[in-house]
Amino acid sequence: MTNTYSSFYMPARVRIGEGAVASCAGEIASLGRRCLILTGGPSAKNCGALGDLERTLGECGISYSVFEGIKNNPPIESCIAAGRDAADFGADFIAGVGGGSVLDAAKAAAIAAANPGADEAYLYSKKWEHSPLPILLVGTTAGTGSEVTAVSVLTDSHGRKKSINDPRIFASLSIGDPHYTASMPRTLTLTTAVDALSHCLESYFSRKGNLFSHDFAMRGINLILRPLEKIAFGGELDALDRTCLYEGSIFGGLAISVTGTCFPHNVGYYLTEKYGVPHGFACAFFLPEYCRHSAEAEPGLAEALYRFTGLNYERLEKLVCAILPDAPILTESEIDGVLPRWENNSTVNNSPGYVGTDYIKSLLMKFTN
Ligand code: NAP
Ligand code: FE
Repeated sequence: MTNTYSSFYMPARVRIGEGAVASCAGEIASLGRRCLILTGGPSAKNCGALGDLERTLGECGISYSVFEGIKNNPPIESCIAAGRDAADFGADFIAGVGGGSVLDAAKAAAIAAANPGADEAYLYSKKWEHSPLPILLVGTTAGTGSEVTAVSVLTDSHGRKKSINDPRIFASLSIGDPHYTASMPRTLTLTTAVDALSHCLESYFSRKGNLFSHDFAMRGINLILRPLEKIAFGGELDALDRTCLYEGSIFGGLAISVTGTCFPHNVGYYLTEKYGVPHGFACAFFLPEYCRHSAEAEPGLAEALYRFTGLNYERLEKLVCAILPDAPILTESEIDGVLPRWENNSTVNNSPGYVGTDYIKSLLMKFTN
């Protein structure tokens, strides 16, 4: 069904380009006088982002402390611990420097810091007494688009990936410098780029699609597709390719900030939780079928997509086959056991066409021997 109105709300201030962190000193200073910075492992420092932020904070006279060790698919407990540290430090704002996992953790830590005693149930309830602290994000991968979404994807205490989706966790300021992504190894570049492509494609065909999301998605695909094909088929990326991938990931984030994601993301979460498949690859296992299924349901959208981006099922299938790792092996009884999680699942139901649990089962049966 076509929506009658097209709406778009994305209140984060965003600045992208070479040297962007240093150029944002004024905006950063307006966030407060004390900052807790979240990072993952050594990449934040090695890619230059952490040093740039520390230098700029120092020049602005802002005191800071660094909370290291946020893991991929961030466990909610570590976000709560970071929030507690931020409160103890008297932080006025939280910064996240890293990939999507660190950016999402920073959003959750900002909620916890503003609400002393917050536990997992409180964070997910969204009934927060105080608004989250202001959030500053510096992305170092080119994939999630978390810089411009109101989403924090966390791992709950049962090991399930579960999101907090709330406009109060839009960043106050998101800064992107595509140079930071140059240190990403090939596999990380592939999995993050295909995550960004998934955002664009899932959003494009989503039942919630509108004027804005369609344009964001097609713009993102046009930026991502060629560099992704280049590296997938054995080429080396140059600085312009990296810039295109980073900018494409932001357009993907804008697209899903309108529509949310669809079944490749939600079913892919299971492969990450149970088998440790990196997030982008986990979605990509389902992406060609999503494209085929959606084109059948929405042939007009598929035709427009092909006309404006050159992307169709065949091209996508070839690309995805070139980059995916070996698939995990599932059993039918395991699949039957997990199927209930996709009953009346709102993300799955965003997908066009029929997506009942028998359809989801048919997707997962391809992973059996
Ligand atoms: P990630 O999970 O953040 O992992 C990043 C990994 O890459 C870390 O091991 C990190 O190393 C390394 N790394 C980061 N930047 C690097 C650089 N510039 N050079 C070299 N290595 C670098 O990866 P991601 O794909 O960006 O994020 C995925 C997460 O975001 C998932 O949890 C996913 O569900 C979520 N997500 C969120 C949204 C949203 O809207 N919020 C959308 C889609 C996905 P270190 O060990 O040094 O830290
Ligand atoms: Fe994603």
